[in-house]
Amino acid sequence: MAEQQFKAEVRKVLRILTNSLYTNREIFLRELISNASDALDKLRFRTSRGETPREPELPLEIRIALDETARTLTITDSGLGMSAEELAENLGTIAKSGSEAFLAELDAQAGESNPADAASIIGRFGVGFYSVFMVADKVEVTSLPAFGGDGQAHVWVSDGLGTFEVSACEAGELKRGTRIVVHLKEDAKEFAEKFRVESVIRKHSAFVPFPIFVGEDKINTQPALWREPKSSVTREQYDAFYKHLTYDGKAPLDVLHIAVDAPVQFNALLYLPDAAQDIFGMDRDYWGLDLYSRRVLIQHRNKELLPEYLAFLKGVVDTEDLPLNISRETLQENVVLRKIHQTIVKQLLGHLEKMAANDAETYARFWKLHGRVFKLGYQDFPNRERVAALLRFNTSFHEDAEGLSSLDDYMARAPEGQKTIWYVTAPNREAARLSPHLERFRKKGIETLYLYEPVDEFLMDGLHAYKEWAFQSVENAADDALDAFADKADADKPVTAPLSEDDNAAFDRLLARIREILGERVKDVRVSHRLAESAAVLVSPDGGMTSSMEKFLRVMQKDDSLPVKVLEVNRDHPLLRSLLRMFKADAADRTLTDMVECLFDACLLQDGYLKDPQALAARSNALLSQAAAWYGEVKHLG
Ligand code: ADP
Ligand code: MG
Repeated sequence: MAEQQFKAEVRKVLRILTNSLYTNREIFLRELISNASDALDKLRFRTSRGETPREPELPLEIRIALDETARTLTITDSGLGMSAEELAENLGTIAKSGSEAFLAELDAQAGESNPADAASIIGRFGVGFYSVFMVADKVEVTSLPAFGGDGQAHVWVSDGLGTFEVSACEAGELKRGTRIVVHLKEDAKEFAEKFRVESVIRKHSAFVPFPIFVGEDKINTQPALWREPKSSVTREQYDAFYKHLTYDGKAPLDVLHIAVDAPVQFNALLYLPDAAQDIFGMDRDYWGLDLYSRRVLIQHRNKELLPEYLAFLKGVVDTEDLPLNISRETLQENVVLRKIHQTIVKQLLGHLEKMAANDAETYARFWKLHGRVFKLGYQDFPNRERVAALLRFNTSFHEDAEGLSSLDDYMARAPEGQKTIWYVTAPNREAARLSPHLERFRKKGIETLYLYEPVDEFLMDGLHAYKEWAFQSVENAADDALDAFADKADADKPVTAPLSEDDNAAFDRLLARIREILGERVKDVRVSHRLAESAAVLVSPDGGMTSSMEKFLRVMQKDDSLPVKVLEVNRDHPLLRSLLRMFKADAADRTLTDMVECLFDACLLQDGYLKDPQALAARSNALLSQAAAWYGEVKHLG
């Protein structure tokens, strides 16, 4: 075959790898070994289903030969192998999503600290092979497929610059699988030294499930940890296996080792990473558990084993109860997997419950990292009570945005007679505290959950209630919802005196006048029972959605019209009292109209809707000049 061009995205990745990543170059060996291990896994998988490979007696192993004089490292595996087409396809292109994700992640990291941390991401996005060009100026990959083919070997050769070549060749000593000859760059000759290579393997590839030989010496000796009795495994071993599994540079937050015999037999190692993942974004394909059947790897990142709300878990599951000839397609809807899934959920919830009870600090850390994903657990109907008990919230009780409480904490602090869990949605704590809807709650000393994320409202809707306490937004609280509770001793007393009967009647006419001024823009104008400090607030007509939910739906429907709501005014607020005086003096006063407009603007602004800032600025400037003029006059007279 003639010379071929690498695909554009490969060239991009190669340029980055060869030019800008100098530290941590040793991980190229981890990538080659992991590819060899994958090829052996695939061969074992197909053999276990009854297929017979070329040279069936050949042991499954990885061999590394070094030549310091020739400056070469040669790695050979007796795995699946590749045909000529596969060589060109697998080593000349990258799955598009993989290269994109890799480049994006690299960009993101380059922004922060050192760009050299490619080590932690390179293996994840299907670009691992190309890391060999960090240390090589020429690479030859000879391969002989284990299944099919006519016994003809092919070799892929490239200097990693722009092109590669695939041609037929003698298999030589290669009986099956793949042999890669790495011609090391002058400044990478250390990777032809036995001592150096062995230490890299011990560091990065200790858990590879096939023997790795350097010369005649077997280097890796770690057992499959998940099959070992818990008591014999140390935390260091657990952590080392986690690194092997995830390439995460940071030790895991916690590990759960499961060995179960009924209703299905399985062993599992589950890790809680000490870093948040973007399960709904960049990492959406990169979750799931590695599924083994009797130590044969069936599938990487199997997603049947976990509900989405536990997608942050990393780990492996090994079961004896899957038929050996199971195909990957029939794994879906599989009864054994469903039972394992259920058991994992139960055990993990139990584990988190223990952690929450005994180690609040670690649990808080777990919550900060993975709470966003875990909240989706409201969809797990049979377990929702347990999920709800594990939720954490920042509330009006806390001093700052860092504080966290469970629903049980909240209920324990509630006054006698409270049977509702109140919440307010806002983008952050400052905004939540400013919500006028909260004023009467503060006055009565009734605690409120602060919800900062869009998913939270679905969570409240989905859960509906916890231990028979209903969740309810403060926005939808009935006028008399808090009547049963006494004011806090130190609550602010109103500064205005109660209105006389005449003034009450006048106030009703003022409301009618405001209604007239605002016209179609409001559903109604009425006296508020929820306000203590603010002058006015917009509320949804009875039983409507909360404003954040409504905003969310409007964005979804690309609706940018202003919502028509009810304007509630605080009859005891000094501003309303002034308006009343103006109204009594002259019901058609221009300034009264301007002030009502301004008040309405402020309410829209507070609710997050404002379409015409120019008009708002003009109106408030006009009012300011009037006020300034009056002030001058009064001062002058006085
Ligand atoms: P990934 O391993 O994530 O798929 P790599 O860049 O490491 O990405 O490898 C690309 C592909 O090349 C592999 O998916 C595999 O199909 C093929 N490959 C690489 N090394 C070997 C090998 N030793 N034996 C068989 N196939 C291999
Ligand atoms: Mg790989």
